[in-house]
Amino acid sequence: MQIISGTEVAGKVLTECTAQISELAAAGIRPGLAVVLVGDDPASRAYVRSKDKKCRDLGLHSVKHELPATTTQEELLAVVRELNADPAIHGILVQSPPPAHIDEAAVVRAIDPAKDVDGFHPINVAKLALEDPTGFVPCTPLGCQRLLIEAGIETKGAHAVVIGRSMIVGKPMALLLMAKGPGGDATVTVAHSRTRDLGAITRQADIIVAAIGRPGFLKAEHVREGAVVIDVGINRVEDSSIEKGYRIVGDVAYDEVAPKCRAITPVPGGVGPMTIAMLMSNTIKACRQITGK
Ligand code: NAD
Repeated sequence: MQIISGTEVAGKVLTECTAQISELAAAGIRPGLAVVLVGDDPASRAYVRSKDKKCRDLGLHSVKHELPATTTQEELLAVVRELNADPAIHGILVQSPPPAHIDEAAVVRAIDPAKDVDGFHPINVAKLALEDPTGFVPCTPLGCQRLLIEAGIETKGAHAVVIGRSMIVGKPMALLLMAKGPGGDATVTVAHSRTRDLGAITRQADIIVAAIGRPGFLKAEHVREGAVVIDVGINRVEDSSIEKGYRIVGDVAYDEVAPKCRAITPVPGGVGPMTIAMLMSNTIKACRQITGK
């Protein structure tokens, strides 16, 4: 059984990013990412901090806008418009979820699609469906695909079952797996909360991508011998034996599923580190496309 290390592959992606950053620096260009946070959700704050830190570590220009929870829709849109017009910024993301009074879809639509490094703008969703390489693909599924490629998992002709149909993970994952080319060409089934007899479907899978949001949901009985399992889940479960009182687990019951697998990603250290690495990579891509370098 092969444990696919996201930490290792993310390291490789970031090394590639560093090389591209040096190349751009030689041309006098520094890719810039702006992250906008509204409100004080602790998990969102932590995500924003780690994105900012990763940018700085790599030598990217990083701007953090931390706005109060009382920020109005119009004020937020004004910040987005300002960033759209800022030549030092090539990537913009508004951390999800915003407070309830903000219309998130309208904010995403206000971001310049050329700077939409999260890949949530309708133009980029369409480009993914059209297999247009100039588009931006959401970072988490893009990272999952890269893990499959780097681990030498043949997706061509394989039956891939994606569990989850969110716009952030499940749906773009399915589009990537069915697209032509490396990490694609799979026969894809998408399962979700309304799927009947999930096990009957997942037991046919050569590759399973679990993006459900329920700790340890995928059990050994759901998986056939020799399957490849990518666990996207990040779930907090209480654990009083640890000082912070919780630990992070995936959507897969790792201990019972792993022995049946040909390959599996762990949590933590699997998909998680890939997401931020792909964000850096998307920011550099945006910079290259905008500057033509
Ligand atoms: P979501 O809540 O938007 O979507 C969950 C999906 O699971 C839904 O489409 C739903 O239909 C499906 N589902 C729910 N119950 C089901 C069931 N019983 N059977 C089959 N399908 C079922 O969540 P999301 O944003 O797609 O995230 C999924 C998981 O991935 C979460 O744990 C989240 O924390 C994690 N995540 C991780 C990263 C990362 O960087 N590793 C990034 C994004 C999300």
